[in-house]
Amino acid sequence: MPELPEVEITARRLDAALRGLPIESSLAPGINALKTFDPPLSAIDGQAVTGVRRIGKHIVVDVGDGLSLLIHLMSAGRLQLYDKRASMKDRTSRLLVRIADPEQPERELRLREFGTKQRAWVKLLRREDVAADDAVASLGPEAWPDPPADLGALLKPAGARPLHGVLRDQRVIAGIGRSWVDEILWTARLSPFQRGNDLSAEEAAALRTAIVSVLGGALAHYEEAVHLPIPDKLPLPLRVHRKQGEPCPRCATTLEAVHYEDYVMTYCPADQTGGKVLKDRRLSRLLK
Ligand SMILES: [Zn+2]
Repeated sequence: MPELPEVEITARRLDAALRGLPIESSLAPGINALKTFDPPLSAIDGQAVTGVRRIGKHIVVDVGDGLSLLIHLMSAGRLQLYDKRASMKDRTSRLLVRIADPEQPERELRLREFGTKQRAWVKLLRREDVAADDAVASLGPEAWPDPPADLGALLKPAGARPLHGVLRDQRVIAGIGRSWVDEILWTARLSPFQRGNDLSAEEAAALRTAIVSVLGGALAHYEEAVHLPIPDKLPLPLRVHRKQGEPCPRCATTLEAVHYEDYVMTYCPADQTGGKVLKDRRLSRLLK
């Protein structure tokens, strides 16, 4: 979290709310959040927001004629719009952009980050430099709405790594993370441990269909359920992720899980691993 559907709904909601409104002032209270110094952050002050969009799991806020804020929320960041300005005591604030909204005089776009680690980041770039920025240039093709037709060919160069890791590798395909990969593999009835370079044409086609339907389905859900202000926790319509011990929604077999570091991958043994329960910790090491 947040992954492609969560970032996409955030960008859509912010675009609708902010497009055309001028920025009054900006501030980056997070020590490590702002990764660039030229142009200075103050260059956006007095300029209008011209659009908010998504690239992979990044959010881009276009400002004025030629500047863009490139933002990565990492695992615990949120970009939220408030009608009241932040207290300086709010230690979650990483970036504050005060909006000159005549109807909401205290309106403020706020990048907040939960937890103890400061990993979310912001770069202020000239718009023509966004595509060439390391974070963007290294991304694989977008996972949604139209991933490459030949997914087998896309995944092959990533080698003999398990699908669970390959699909989360943003350099291979952009937008999928720890939550939605479980849903995608379950939907495609593929083992998380299957080698990414060893998919049959049918399996690759099923995987592509699952990616489009799972991410698109999540986004359709958010279109109904998520409105401003965007909540700290989005209502993720998950069916298997972190539901180990519960019955598979398709076949009622008990869902199983492998734990690795701070995350867990969940799967249905009957649908995905030929009935095998893979609890060996050595297997989990492969997932990195
Ligand atoms: Zn099942």
